[in-house]
Order: sequence, then structure tokens, then C-alpha cells
Amino acid sequence: MIRLEGLTKRYGAFTAVDAIDLEVPKGSLFGLLGPNGAGKTTTLRMIAGILQPDEGRVLVEGFDVVRDPYQAKRRLGYIPDRPFVYEKLTGAELLRFVAGLYGQDGAAIEERIEELLRLWDLERWADELVESYSHGMRQKLIISAALVHRPTVLVIDEPMVGLDPKSARLLKDLLRAFAQTGGTALISTHTLAFAEVLCERMAVIDTGRIVALGSVEDLRAQAKAESSGLEEIFLRLTGGAAEGELLRVLEG
Ligand code: ATP
Repeated sequence: MIRLEGLTKRYGAFTAVDAIDLEVPKGSLFGLLGPNGAGKTTTLRMIAGILQPDEGRVLVEGFDVVRDPYQAKRRLGYIPDRPFVYEKLTGAELLRFVAGLYGQDGAAIEERIEELLRLWDLERWADELVESYSHGMRQKLIISAALVHRPTVLVIDEPMVGLDPKSARLLKDLLRAFAQTGGTALISTHTLAFAEVLCERMAVIDTGRIVALGSVEDLRAQAKAESSGLEEIFLRLTGGAAEGELLRVLEG
């Protein structure tokens, strides 16, 4: 479970995230949509405990990320949009290092690392330095790193960037299985088709505020959109649909 209560972040006089309230129930996949600069990454970074909120709080499985970071973070996996990876470690070493940060080592973790590398077809790259990995391979390694300690909550920023179709499909299946086994995920994405097939509920955020919330059907009603496509709904909710030109370009 993830709960945001009045979550606010300011950069100087600019309010990037403005008093957001949101609850993502256990066992669900929740989409966070919004135009560039809407405040999605800032929100996810506060949930992950990387940025401190100016007001409000984040609860992960009931634990306050600021007041009880150890309990919150051991339950959380964060997949950032711009993955930083240590270039001079091998893939297996990086996963071992991350597991170590969570106090996990030994035979069970070695098995876990093998299992994750096998899942993502990275087995034969396990002992190669990360600097030789392609963008997509790094993305798969970062996803593995977020899963290595078996979190029950995942916070994912733009998961599809760089993934080939097979890996994208695998990620979808993995997230569905994660939710079916009680996991909770908040997924920020511009890939509307991904959100539409995967997330039973979603929020649209614009200039730091939630402008619509619910299932695709709920969003459609809130946007007063006729078409069933999430793209039109999104553009209406975020002010894009008024520009017919934009829709034509997107549809072309
Ligand atoms: P995108 O879809 O482009 O990734 P986003 O919804 O993730 O956008 P954020 O990265 O959360 O947006 O940024 C929200 C706003 O906060 C933007 O206007 C951005 O310029 C601003 N911002 C983010 N980080 C900083 C920072 N470190 N200092 C000042 N302003 C920042």
C-alpha cells in the first residue's frame, strides 16, 4: 500500500507537487500520467525517500518514509527514469552490491541474482562490466536491482524506455504477477497504451495537482471525452485536445 497525504514539494518559489492525496491499495497497479514537467518524477522521488517533502507525508506499507525510512525502504523497490549504474561493476556484482545494501547475502541471494539475470536474458553478460551494456540491458539490470530484495511495493518511472518488445511484454507479465501476489506498484509513464492495459486505476497530474483519478472509464467521464482512447482523454484533461493540430500530429 502507498498513501500520499498532502504531499508537497517546492523548488524555491515554484511548487512542483501541490498537496497531492493518493492511495494505491495493496495488490494493485496504478498509473501516474501527466505532461512533461507535471511533477511525476518529483512525486516518485519523494515516495522513494530520495527527496524530502516540504509538506505532507508518504506511507509505504503503513511506514512513514521520512520518520521510519528503514522500515519503508526495505519494502520498496524504485526504478528511476534515468538509471545511474556503476560502470566498473559487472551486472552480477551490481545486484550483489544492492542486495548487500538491504543486508542480504549468501546462497539465497546468489540464486536470486541468477534467477533475475536469466529472466532478462542477461545471464551471459553477468560477468561483463556494466559499461559494456546497451541502454535496454541497463534498464533490465536496474529493474532486477529494484527486485533483488523482494520488495512488496514498486515505484517505477518510465519503465518501457529502451525495452525491446519481448522485454516490454515480460515486464507487463511480471508486474501483473507482482500485483496478483499482493504487490503494489505506482507506475509513471508516457506510454498510454501500457497504462491502459496494465493499470486498473490511474491519476492524471498536471502542474503538480491531480486533475483526474480513476479507471479509464472514470477518466473518460471526467474528461467528457467521446472516444474510448486514453490518448484523447489524456489530451483533454491536460489541455492538449483543444489544439486539433496536436491530435492530428499524434494520430498521424
Ligand atoms: P517528465 O514527464 O518530463 O519527466 P515530470 O512530470 O516527471 O516530467 P518533474 O521532473 O517532477 O516532472 O518536474 C516537475 C517540475 O519541477 C518541472 O517544472 C521541473 O522543471 C521542476 N524541477 C524538477 N527538479 C527540479 C530541481 N532540482 N530544481 C528546480 N526545479 C525542478
